[in-house]
Amino acid sequence: MEQRVFGGTGRQVPVLGQGTWQMEEDDRDEAIRSLRAGLDLGLTHVDTAELYGHGRVEESIVSEAIAGRRQEVFLVSKVMPSNATYAGTLAACERSLKRLRTDVLDCYLLHWPGSHPLEETVRAFEKLVADGKIRSWGVSNFGVAELEELVELAKPERVACNQVLYHLEERAIEHAVLPWCEARGIAVVGYSPFGNGRFPRPDSPGGRVLEAVARAHGVTPRQVALQFLVRRPSLFAIPKASRVAHLRDNAAAASLRLSREELARLDAAFPLGAYSDELPML
Ligand code: NAP
Repeated sequence: MEQRVFGGTGRQVPVLGQGTWQMEEDDRDEAIRSLRAGLDLGLTHVDTAELYGHGRVEESIVSEAIAGRRQEVFLVSKVMPSNATYAGTLAACERSLKRLRTDVLDCYLLHWPGSHPLEETVRAFEKLVADGKIRSWGVSNFGVAELEELVELAKPERVACNQVLYHLEERAIEHAVLPWCEARGIAVVGYSPFGNGRFPRPDSPGGRVLEAVARAHGVTPRQVALQFLVRRPSLFAIPKASRVAHLRDNAAAASLRLSREELARLDAAFPLGAYSDELPML
């Protein structure tokens, strides 16, 4: 599995990780098998959040999947904006650590911009780093205006990543957020790479291009999509697969190489769309 430096952390992290949103609705045993198969195949970036299943995903799925394998995992969780005061962030992190049955997170994110002062959240993140509870921190769903506010409070090197919505039919980050993060060495983690289950249909114009590129390589359209979404060195993707077969399909995308011409065809088939100040999120 190809690895890349994850923002200012200096850590090597696989380009493809594993999402866990809505896993509480899936077959638990199969979801745990899938996460473990992912670790076996090098998808060691595991993304979760206190929000997911109101803590159940951390507590009963991720903790079980990583049991005995904590050292292999780049474990990421997120604090809800409603908890992101100074004291609230510290307390939320403790709860996540307990649910995950670990004593440290590799990265801790603010899930989306909220109404509590960002200064408090950043101060709490730095306290958690100093106390050895988290190894790095970052944000999620931050547009350029919020990122500008953030770097008034902390050096860009302190911000490991911005986790944002990014799939073939939603490329808004490419207008401003992606270049802004790239210029400052902040990793961009694309979430919902399959559109949260709304993957382009094979009979749609874009879907037909995906199929054609996939056929030329003997791979699946989803593998082509994943490789397109990590085509730049700042990019990571975290598909969610609660079935082992899906997981294996996604993991195999890491070895696919698309030509410049194929990337250009995909670029044209899934146009960027107009710029908007509003960063789309799920
Ligand atoms: P996604 O990864 O775009 O799509 C997941 C769906 O695709 C699931 O239904 C999954 O099915 C299916 N799937 C996966 N691999 C497949 C394959 N090879 N063939 C066919 N179907 C396949 O959706 P997502 O969960 O929204 O996004 C991924 C992760 O990003 C989340 O789990 C979460 O960790 C993170 N996220 C973060 C935010 C944020 O605000 N920061 C928001 C949304 C998501 P099965 O599960 O049945 O295998």
